[in-house]
Parts: sequence; C-alpha cells; structure tokens
Amino acid sequence: ADRQFSLIRYPEKHQHISLQAWDSADELIIEHIESLLSEGAFQIGTGESDGSMMIFNDDFGALGCWFSHLAPYWISDSYISLRSLHENLKANQLLDTSDTDKLNALKTAPVQTLTSVESSTFTPAKAPQIIVVKVPRALALLEQQLIDLQKYITPDTQIIATGKVKAITKSVLNLFERYIGPTTTSLAKKKSRLIFASPRPSLKQADSPYPTRWQCKSTTGITLTIDNLANTFARQSLDIGARIMLEHMTVSANDVVVDLGCGNGVLGVNALSLAPDAKVIFVDESYMALESARLNVLNNFPDKIDQCEFVASNCLETLLQREYKPAVTKILCNPPFHQQNAITDHIAWQMFTDSRDLLIKSGHLVVVGNRHLDYHIKLKKLFGGAKVLASDKKFVILGTAKR
Ligand code: SAM
Repeated sequence: ADRQFSLIRYPEKHQHISLQAWDSADELIIEHIESLLSEGAFQIGTGESDGSMMIFNDDFGALGCWFSHLAPYWISDSYISLRSLHENLKANQLLDTSDTDKLNALKTAPVQTLTSVESSTFTPAKAPQIIVVKVPRALALLEQQLIDLQKYITPDTQIIATGKVKAITKSVLNLFERYIGPTTTSLAKKKSRLIFASPRPSLKQADSPYPTRWQCKSTTGITLTIDNLANTFARQSLDIGARIMLEHMTVSANDVVVDLGCGNGVLGVNALSLAPDAKVIFVDESYMALESARLNVLNNFPDKIDQCEFVASNCLETLLQREYKPAVTKILCNPPFHQQNAITDHIAWQMFTDSRDLLIKSGHLVVVGNRHLDYHIKLKKLFGGAKVLASDKKFVILGTAKR
C-alpha cells in the first residue's frame, strides 16, 4: 500500500525535532497486516466501527491513521496519545473537522476511540477479526487489556502484538500464553518483532488483579485506603516521594488545590484529610490514574466527591484553556521523569511553567523530587526562587510562591 501520512507527536511545539511519531514496531505491524489484507486473510468493511478491528496502545496515532479506512476501535490510556491521534487524523484530512468539540469529533470519526477505562466494560457489536496491540510499558496495563479481551474474542480472532525486541520479554509472552492461548513470535526486523497469539476455545474471563489496594497514613494520622487501576503509578505501595509529602504537607481551609500528575490521587486525598472544605482538582494524562483518584476520594471521603474534579490533561493545558480558569491557590506535584519510553525532563519543566501560569498571585507550588533532579534550578528560573520545605537523604520538597 502506497500511502503517505505526515505525523506529529502531541504537543508538537514541545517535542524535540528528532522524535518521530512512529517507530519500527509500527512499521512492522503495518507491513504484516497489509500483507494479510492483500492475501484476503480477513475482510473488514469500511464505514461504521463494529469491532472487526481493534487497536490498543498506539503511541501517537500512526496506526490509527494508517488503518482509519477500516474503521477500527482505538483504545488508549493516554490523553496525550488521544490528542496526537486527533491532530494526526486532522492534519491528514481523515477527520470531519466540522465538530467544534475536539475530543467529541473523535466519537464520530472513522476511528472510534475509547479510553482504557471505558474499554474495560466495552463489548464490540461483532467478535473482532483482528486485534493489534502495541506492547505498553506497563505490563499490568497489558494484563488488564488481555483480561478485558477474553470476554469477546473467539478462536477466529487474530491477535497480533508489536514492540521493540527489548520490550518483548518472557513476561510479556507469558501474559499472552496465560490469558489468550498459544503464542509465537516473528523474527526480529529493525529491532522490533511481532507476537501472534491464538485464542483458546471457550476462554473464560479471568479475575483481574487490578485495582490493587494498599493503605497508608494521612498527615492527620488516619488510615487512607488507596486503589490502583492497572496503569497507575505506585500500584504496589506508596511512592517514597509521596511518602515524604504526606509527612510534611499543609493545606488551608480555603485552598483550591491541584494534584498535578495525581496518579492514584494520594496527595489530593490527603489534602481533603487536612482541609475538609478544600476544593481539589486531580489532573493526569492517564485515564486509569484519574479513575483511581476518583475511586480513592469515594473510598476515603465519599461526601467530598462534589468538591473534586478529575481532569485529563497534558500538564495543566486543559485548565489553562478554560474560559473560566479555577482560582488555584496550591499545586502539589510529584513530577514524572519519562513519557512513552523517552526519558526527559521536559514534562517537569512544562508542569512548572503551567503552574506559574495557573496559580493566583501568591499561590504556592510544592514539588517533591529526587535530589539529583535539580528542580530548584528550574523553579528559580520560573519563580525567582524556591525554599526547601523538608528533605531526607534522597528527596527534597521544594516550595515556591507566584509573585
Ligand atoms: N502523585 C502521584 C504520587 O505521588 O504517587 C503520582 C506521581 S507520578 C511520579 C507522576 C504522574 O504524572 C503519573 O501519574 C503520570 O501518569 C503523570 N503524568 C505524566 N506525564 C504527564 C503529563 N504530560 N500531564 C499530566 N500528567 C502526566
């Protein structure tokens, strides 16, 4: 198939020019599926999505664009991936842009998108013929997705996964064997390879190990119960950075708090234990993180749920783009240091810049990080300084105010 697309990684302006929006694992699976299509190995009607084809964990929408004429379902846990897909469909004239609501337009697009939270309770109209899985970084996410698939795949469903050779570990193959059936791999080509899994007849849906649950003590000394969906950071226990935050956090009665990069929401939930009247906005780019945070407010402070908001966003852009921005007085942040396999500090930088833009005058940003990450240099540049609020051998909490 001789087609060409021009693809970006969202958000385009913050990406290094050398970072491509697709990789050799995408190329490999496109070649393979094109050869299956030309052999007539399966027929997929164009038009309405019916579940004949499903694509999981496409990083930046390359697979979604390439296969858009087959009207696939497209499932991702990432707001950034979803926005990338959207931008790329639009840039390649594959999207009806008459719908002004950007994400809503996708619901009527040739590609039907579902978040990984929605896909957990979803069953397509037809048993899928082909399921394409890009092996995700978190094996737990893969595990949850394979369990979800058990509900509706048949022995005729072809499940083909793709990934970099180093991502296709024995544990990955074991998950396919365990939840789907006999599994083989292709030879490696350009450092990537394919996985072929054949569904066993009469698969029953296995019990999911997710959400995982653990407990920790709030700053006020009460026990918090924390649930973690599969793709949530610190799934097995409280993060050590978060622990020192819980030891030293302060929140005042009238604060409007943002838990930025909330994960399971432990910092925002703790804010409610300190200030029961605070408004808390949980922000993450992972839909499973946001759903975990929502569960954790319900687990611990069910009567506070109406004071809380759960917002999918790349850093704080979703809030900054609102016509009526919330009057945020405090931002709590335990920043990430990698994204979609790229180790980088551009996310922390963006989070701090956005925080400066969103906070009201004299509002506070409180950041926890490993000492060697030198966040104080960034905060000094952006805010004119930062104070060490607490520290131990490995971590520092830095606080800074908007002037
Ligand atoms: N606050 C939680 C805690 O302390 O346990 C989680 C902290 S974890 C180090 C960083 C979080 O940032 C992850 O939940 C990740 O999904 C989220 N994240 C990564 N990139 C993001 C982005 N561009 N925009 C918003 N959130 C992001």
